[in-house]
Amino acid sequence: AFSSAPITATLFPGDGIGPEIAEAVKQIFREAEVPIEWEEHYVGTEVDPRTQSFLTWESLESVRRNRVGLKGPMATPIGKGHRSLNLTLRKELNLYANVRPCYSLPGYKTLYDDVNLITIRENTEGEYSGLEHQVVRGVVESLKIITRQASLRVAEYAFHYAKAHGRERVSAIHKANIMQKTDGLFLKCCREVAEKYPEITYEEVVIDNCCMMLVKNPALFDVLVMPNLYGDIISDLCAGLIGGLGLTPSCNIGEGGIALAEAVHGSAPDIAGKNLANPTALLLSGVSMLRHLELHDKADRIQKAVLDTIAEGKYRTADLGGKSTTSDFTKAICDHL
Ligand code: NAD
Repeated sequence: AFSSAPITATLFPGDGIGPEIAEAVKQIFREAEVPIEWEEHYVGTEVDPRTQSFLTWESLESVRRNRVGLKGPMATPIGKGHRSLNLTLRKELNLYANVRPCYSLPGYKTLYDDVNLITIRENTEGEYSGLEHQVVRGVVESLKIITRQASLRVAEYAFHYAKAHGRERVSAIHKANIMQKTDGLFLKCCREVAEKYPEITYEEVVIDNCCMMLVKNPALFDVLVMPNLYGDIISDLCAGLIGGLGLTPSCNIGEGGIALAEAVHGSAPDIAGKNLANPTALLLSGVSMLRHLELHDKADRIQKAVLDTIAEGKYRTADLGGKSTTSDFTKAICDHL
């Protein structure tokens, strides 16, 4: 039925609510006749020695080959002897930037109607380098690594993104007044890149002040770029401004043009297997994957159907104050297509 050969993309349904919301995405993509063939990979039940985690080597190879994929949430198993699944993916695939758009959904009332933010988080180093150890009993140490290479790379991506999407301003978020060497280097790299983009306004905002300003008036910001830990926190704050984790998509950008889209939320064990999860975040992540593939018609159509369904208000999942199940909400989106 497709006019050209379908594109193969990797799909990790993931854990907890992952398989339920991945099913919703597959159903809606089928209904919209999106020319994608999914290559599905589940998280393994034992550690693969080649990745030192529950992720199989084959699943990583699949993303490397397809260069594009969609990922459901993965629970981080508690225990030792293996790496976090998300960290493994980021490191192995060099997913250096995490892009999280956050905009007010028409028809879903929150404190603000005008949120339109993009947070871009450095994804490979900073406080999440995994370098923690005990110095002596009662004293532990964690190393925050900031490199010129990773900072320039994420700054380049942020400015490139801003320019490509007609955005006017990039704010670098930092705490360089205290972390003078690490955040200082991050800022220096952002400044260097900013000079190459005179048409884009560049500013630097201290993280604590940034939080206050975001909560008071999110319209003060446009594109925000920051080191790993700050990005983790600020992007959840932004999700809260528009109605919560059930709504916010993201996309991980890797070296060589890999794009692995994923919802911001986790596996939601409290509601898993109950047909209650909101598939919107994963679905909009799928939409960002379609945009990466330049399938804009399909992306627009699906995005409109999900926003219309939420705006209409007849079918909403419990996190948005509704009574619909995942499958009812999914069917309503299909009907809107
Ligand atoms: P969580 O995001 O799974 O859940 C937080 C709250 O939000 C819960 O009340 C949950 O029910 C709700 N929620 C999340 N997504 C929802 C959705 N789509 N629809 C409706 N409600 C939703 O965070 P958590 O409970 O802290 O973490 C659970 C597990 O997920 C942990 O193992 C954690 O490591 C993992 N996790 C994975 C990722 C990822 O894969 N990127 C991200 C965050 C957490």
